[in-house]
This record gives sequence, structure tokens and C-alpha cells, in this order.
Amino acid sequence: MGSIVGLRCVRCGELFPPADMFEGCSVCAPETRVNIVPVYDEQEVSRTLSPESLSRRPASMWRYYELLPVDSEHCVSLGEGMTPLVACPKLGIHLGIPNLYIKDESQNPTGSFKDRLASAAISVGRRNGAQTVVCSSTGNLGLATAAYAARAGLDCVVLTTTASPPMMQMLMRSYGAMIVATLEKKQRWMLMKACVDELGWFPVSNYCQPLVGSNPYGVDGYKTIGLEICEQLNWNAPDVIASPSAFGEGLWGAWQGCVVARKLGFTQSLPRMVAAEVFGPLTNALQRELTDVEEVPSGVTVAYSVGSGVATYQALHALRESHGTAGRADDDALLDMQRLLAKTEGILAETASVLPLVLLAKLRDSEWIREDEVVVAVLTSAGIKDPVLIEDLDNEVPRVEPDLRKFKEALKEIYAFTC
Ligand SMILES: [Zn+2]
Repeated sequence: MGSIVGLRCVRCGELFPPADMFEGCSVCAPETRVNIVPVYDEQEVSRTLSPESLSRRPASMWRYYELLPVDSEHCVSLGEGMTPLVACPKLGIHLGIPNLYIKDESQNPTGSFKDRLASAAISVGRRNGAQTVVCSSTGNLGLATAAYAARAGLDCVVLTTTASPPMMQMLMRSYGAMIVATLEKKQRWMLMKACVDELGWFPVSNYCQPLVGSNPYGVDGYKTIGLEICEQLNWNAPDVIASPSAFGEGLWGAWQGCVVARKLGFTQSLPRMVAAEVFGPLTNALQRELTDVEEVPSGVTVAYSVGSGVATYQALHALRESHGTAGRADDDALLDMQRLLAKTEGILAETASVLPLVLLAKLRDSEWIREDEVVVAVLTSAGIKDPVLIEDLDNEVPRVEPDLRKFKEALKEIYAFTC
């Protein structure tokens, strides 16, 4: 286990004893709602963690166990993490970024980066004697929580909304999770707070209003995204890491991983972080130079898993600290990019997951990114379970006769393909 010495507030730096704290910093509240992060004894970490020792460890996120909240022997794991960092030169040249890489989080056990959060949080929950875990989610986090709770032998309740995709609800049920829906998103948080306070259930996601962030031990799992990217680039930090952003916790975690890699002396530099959003709470906060993130109007989007009008303080902090930026993309651009990525590089992403690619093209056009820079886009989730793509099931596949001439004519007519 990592030697946690306390929980520190991202904003005011107050150090709290390591305990179950799921509602953020009590010093900063109610003025600003901000999460706390586990702090590890760096000397203790350095004793066993080195690029050399890592080279002999298993390919999962628990290879960095010194920097995670439970011992690797007691973790609840399905082999999450150490996902491929895929060089994408064809798409990169198309975007004007030849050194483009995709961190393919779709290859995690339930097909998204949320497996890191679920693995870390539920490991702590089981160690602390939890019987029931609870989370609020419309999709990927609920799915990850359902799977890891099953793995841990814990009961799992997922609070979702009536608008969550039936496909995701079906997948969560497959793992034995109990799913219930509220009419509005924020009603889930009210109910979840009661489950935590009165029933003693272990929370995986945020339940605070205004938003604080998810279980801090779980969010710590996202740190491994940054560590892995640096390790996979032979302990070089990229120039830019761009991530789809709803609450911005994956982005914040990846940034934390890069910061710790440099602190430990494994890398020499830090990346600029980019938040790719649909409705743009972080974009708005940066543009208007706000101290805290304000809610912006939100609605329906094909990028349903990041359709948030709110984001966390810590995500904004990561953007400022890294000299990064944020921007938005619209639905049409996302659908075009989803197809382009699949066709040029063979990677089918969830629609929300191509947000960074759309934004990176804009940032290259404006010279915010230089042509020679190494850029990593975090692909957060798999296209194979994307409700947007499932809708395409209604399109029937054209039928052909078993006749080569007619077959060639059909290819030409339907797909404009000559052979
Ligand atoms: Zn504070």
C-alpha cells in the first residue's frame, strides 16, 4: 500500500488525517467546493518505486501501488490500466500533428477509463468493510462500479436518470447491480447523500451539490493515466495531453500523475493539459477568468457521457497550473471525427471520446500547438457500447446475389467502390 500521510485540499492546502472524507475540503466550503487528494510519503515511495523496478512489474495500474490507496495484494482488480499508447501518424498528419498518440482507455475491462476509479475506490471500500457501494451515473461509471463491486463481492446500487441509455442500463444489470432512476440528474445526488449518511453505503461518485468530485481514493486511480503515458514515452512527458471533460476528474488525475512523475525525477518536464468539452463550464471559466467554475447551460448531445454544465474546481486548477486550455466541439464535428478515426487508424471510440481530436485540430490551426510537439489524446471509452452507434442498427445491410458481376455493381452503386 502507498503510505498515505493525509488528505490535502487542492485549493487551500489544508492537510486532514487519512479518513473517509467524501464531501471535500471543510475549510474551503461553503465558499468553494473542492476535493481533497491523498498525500503519500515521498521518501517511502522512492524506496521501492523506480523506472527500473517498474520494468519488472505486471501490466496493470497497480504496478504503481506505492502511489495508490491500498496494497496491490488487496486491490480489487480486473487487470485495468497499462492501456496501449497508440501512435496515430495517419490521423496526426491529417490534423497537422504528426506526433499524435492515442491513450486507448477503451481497452480497460469494461471499456472505459472509469475502471481505474472503480478499482481504486472499491478496493478502499472493501478494505474498510463496506457491504454496499453506491454511485450516480448515466453510463460508464455505473458500468465500471457494477463490475468491480461484483468482483469484490459487494452489493451495488447505481442511481441513474430516466434519460440514461437503455443499452448502458442493460449492461449494468448484467453485472448484478441494482439500478434505479430519478427524473432529474441532481435528485440522484440528494438520494445518494442519504444512502451514505443514513445507510452507511460507500460512495464511488460525487453526491455533493454544488459539485465537489468523486471519491478521492477513486480519483487517485486516474493518476496512473499520466504515469503510464510518461512511462510509455520512455519517461518523457508529452507536450500536450488532451482529455474529454465532463467534471474534469480524469484530466485532473492525469495531470497529478505527470506531476508526481516529475517530482520523483522520472521525467524532466510537464505537459499542457487540454479539456475538451461539449457545453464548456471550464472553457467559460478560463475565458472569463473566473476563480471558480460556474454552471453553464447544458442539454442533449451525442457525447452523452460528457454532457455536463458543471465541472470541478480541481480540473480548472489543473488547466491553470499546466498553462493549458479548454474548448468545445459540436455534435456534427464529433460524429465526423468518430468515423475518421475508425477509418484511418482502426480505432472505434465512443462519440464523447473523440472530443480532444476535434479540439486539437483547432488548437493546431491557431498555432497553440506546434507541428513538432508530442500530443496525447486520451480516448476515454469504447465505441462498441456507444448508444449513438447502436442507433445505426436500424440501417439494414444491403443484400446481394451470389453473382460476382452483380456484386461488383452493388459495391459501386452503394459504396462508390470499383474493383
Ligand atoms: Zn480547502
